[in-house]
Amino acid sequence: MKTKLTKLKLITQELIKNRIKSSADLSSFKRKIAKNLNIPFPSNIKLLEAYHNLPKNERLKLDKNLEFLLRKRKVRSLSGIVNVSVLTKPYPCPGKCIYCPSQKGIPKSYVSGEPAVERAKRLNYSPYLQVKKRIEALKNAGHPTDKIELRIIGGTWSYYPHYYQNWFVKRCFQACNKSDRSKIFNSQLPIFNKFSIFNFQTLEKEQKKNEKAKHRIIGLSIETRPDFINEKEIKRLRKLGATRVELGVQSIYDDILKLSKRGHKVEATIKATKLLKNAGFKVSYQVMPNLPGSNFKRDVNMFKELFSNPDFQPDYLKIYPLALVKSAPLYKWYKQGKYKPYSKEQLIKLLIEIKKQISYYCRIQRIIRDIPAGKIIEGGAKISNLREIVQKEMKKQGLKCKCIRCREIKENYDAKEKIYLFRQDYDASKGKEIFLSYENKNRTKLYSLLRLRVSFGESFISVLKNAAIIREIHTYGQSVPIAKKQKAPQHKGLGRKLMKEAEIIVYTEFSQSAKREFGLNKIAVISGIGVREYYRKLGYRLKDTYMIKTLNKKRLP
Ligand code: SF4
Repeated sequence: MKTKLTKLKLITQELIKNRIKSSADLSSFKRKIAKNLNIPFPSNIKLLEAYHNLPKNERLKLDKNLEFLLRKRKVRSLSGIVNVSVLTKPYPCPGKCIYCPSQKGIPKSYVSGEPAVERAKRLNYSPYLQVKKRIEALKNAGHPTDKIELRIIGGTWSYYPHYYQNWFVKRCFQACNKSDRSKIFNSQLPIFNKFSIFNFQTLEKEQKKNEKAKHRIIGLSIETRPDFINEKEIKRLRKLGATRVELGVQSIYDDILKLSKRGHKVEATIKATKLLKNAGFKVSYQVMPNLPGSNFKRDVNMFKELFSNPDFQPDYLKIYPLALVKSAPLYKWYKQGKYKPYSKEQLIKLLIEIKKQISYYCRIQRIIRDIPAGKIIEGGAKISNLREIVQKEMKKQGLKCKCIRCREIKENYDAKEKIYLFRQDYDASKGKEIFLSYENKNRTKLYSLLRLRVSFGESFISVLKNAAIIREIHTYGQSVPIAKKQKAPQHKGLGRKLMKEAEIIVYTEFSQSAKREFGLNKIAVISGIGVREYYRKLGYRLKDTYMIKTLNKKRLP
């Protein structure tokens, strides 16, 4: 009699042989074969697991389409990369924000029950284990794990001791560099004291290894307060390999910031945005509607201003409507009747109004925190599927959100579809942004994008003097393993074409500036460590922490 596992293997092999093409085919095939073998209806994840456990000599080549059909939560690798979030250890935050939850044993602003928090707690906040386990889980669920967007979360990153930050990032790189079969080894934070000097060379060594590793970190983001961003901090973040900064902006009105006890003014956000963009970082804003002192109209106007005032213009946006929790000081105000959260209907209406303001160049990453509503949230943003509800409602009203996430090609790639190059110029933080993209004719399907910035001589990083900077280049759709080709937009030369276009723009429009000192003679890319090889192939060389190409007529495409 066959064991359950052997039966699963049998089904997997049959599936591969039968060249299943659609989800409907897959379900009916599974039903039929499960009945024949007298086992319960097998889940996709079990089948993938069984496939991965087949000895090499028994393993038939898994059909790419079938792998896609079996993949769990397909969306996780449909934006061209996979996200890995790692939480820092609990540590105090200098902020006193009245809406911020505090829980013992958890970094400030996070709460139990959030999936990333639960994973981190189980692994004692070890950065190495968090990354290793997450990669393992994504792989077992059928996702390619070659291109990793690493997201470091937990309180205010810039407030953590520098030796901890350096060690933390080094361990994340090590987790990606070690082979999957190598024994998982954990190391607790070595004993440091305030006189400890971290040797950057060991981090650089791991970064160098990652350039050719199996799991390449193609982007690294940290979250911090705007008032912690300055020139020195930015240079340090570059050494760590960071490419994106999530700023806790919350509001752009000083009276609201004051009432919320944020401890900084909007000036800090304006300054941080400019410094970060001039250094090539992608800038993400965390914005919080429904703060005390605000109201529906002010919240709508705030989002209008975010995309009309050149001081702001975030590349990414996280809209976190206030979620009232008992551990936050604001709860007292609520109990005293001094604060009233929006109703569900108001929230939906507000988010629709906000989505109407979003520009083509911005990606809304989230519109609600991943907090389990039932247990912890007492008022405000409680609905976990808010995004879907808002999308449905917009559809009913004949509205469409223009944000990148809503237009990404995802699994709808059609090789025959004609695509067009779009260019949008806009002023931002005293510089010029040029947003290039490949999209279908009516801009409902976005294939690839590039963010080019010209900051007109303003640079505090010497290697960026006289350079235009490419802040982002991204091809969407199913993440395709490095050097492989699949039925998806990645590795079809779209990125290369966008790079050429950017080089031509810089050379023809900005190299002969009326003011000679602003004439640009090179392009710099803020490259994630794991993408450096790609830029080398395009003639870029590593200088400081940027990939640089000097432009001259001969070198133009
Ligand atoms: S800065 Fe962030 S983590 Fe610190 S108290 Fe304010 S919201 Fe919480």
